[in-house]
Amino acid sequence: METIRQQFQSINIWRRGSERAPHKPLLILLALGHYQRGGERLISFEWINEKLKELLKDFGPRRQFYRPEYPFWRLQNDGLWEIPKRGVLLNKTANDDVNRKELLSVSAVGGFPEGLYQRLKKNPGLVREIVRDILDKYFSETLHDDILQSVGLDLEMTTSRSRIRSPHFRNNILKAYEYRCAICGFDIRMAGNPVGLEAAHIQWHQYEGPDIEPNGLALCSLHHKLFDRGVFTLSPELEILVSEYASGGENFDFWLKRHHGHKILHPQRPDYYPDPKYVTWHVREVFRGPSRYL
Ligand SMILES: [Zn+2]
Repeated sequence: METIRQQFQSINIWRRGSERAPHKPLLILLALGHYQRGGERLISFEWINEKLKELLKDFGPRRQFYRPEYPFWRLQNDGLWEIPKRGVLLNKTANDDVNRKELLSVSAVGGFPEGLYQRLKKNPGLVREIVRDILDKYFSETLHDDILQSVGLDLEMTTSRSRIRSPHFRNNILKAYEYRCAICGFDIRMAGNPVGLEAAHIQWHQYEGPDIEPNGLALCSLHHKLFDRGVFTLSPELEILVSEYASGGENFDFWLKRHHGHKILHPQRPDYYPDPKYVTWHVREVFRGPSRYL
């Protein structure tokens, strides 16, 4: 028999190549946060619609439309979600299409099935594992704390359990960029060891991004975070492109805007340069474009 944890691990995610579809994972995290605050099992679609749209805008790929009604309806197929039927929903199965208006018109509510809800309520350790599994599987590590805050989950687990996949990745990338941030050149060391310098995946490893130099960038903690949130990306010519949506005062100018249109600091060998196919993925799936005027 599948354990509860496996059941969450094996939710069916719409997949086309390496496109990101974080809808169901974000809905599950949103519901778990709601329950942790003592919320009722059945949650109104109206509330989920608003919250999930924000989450998709902040942590999902940029899309023309955001569709919170899809995961709300389709998570039923995974056996993890229940929607008491009424009105226009009465004759619909979980495979049928349902639209936002229909859900709103009948004041639809949804939530985990009673048995599951009760078991999770009694088992905060299990909730913690499920949350960690979902974060590890679908989101870059730099986003984990932000997502937890946004869904209101407090799990006393600020230290990331990030798995070590290739212990050499970090070293190889930092070496490739001579131990400095490819954007700002940050290179502070303590007794010879770099501090606040990280190896970023351009195409996330959660979406088959490999642990190789052409898929990596050495970035300071700040630029790593901004890169993973899609505040800036790279052009095919490896210029830094800042999003039109990004703004701020002097700090924004200093940390970001002045780099707009400039090339990254080059790695020490030509074959270490970011491969355009990974950059293209970042532009499509992470960057919150369009980019500012050049
Ligand atoms: Zn930097």
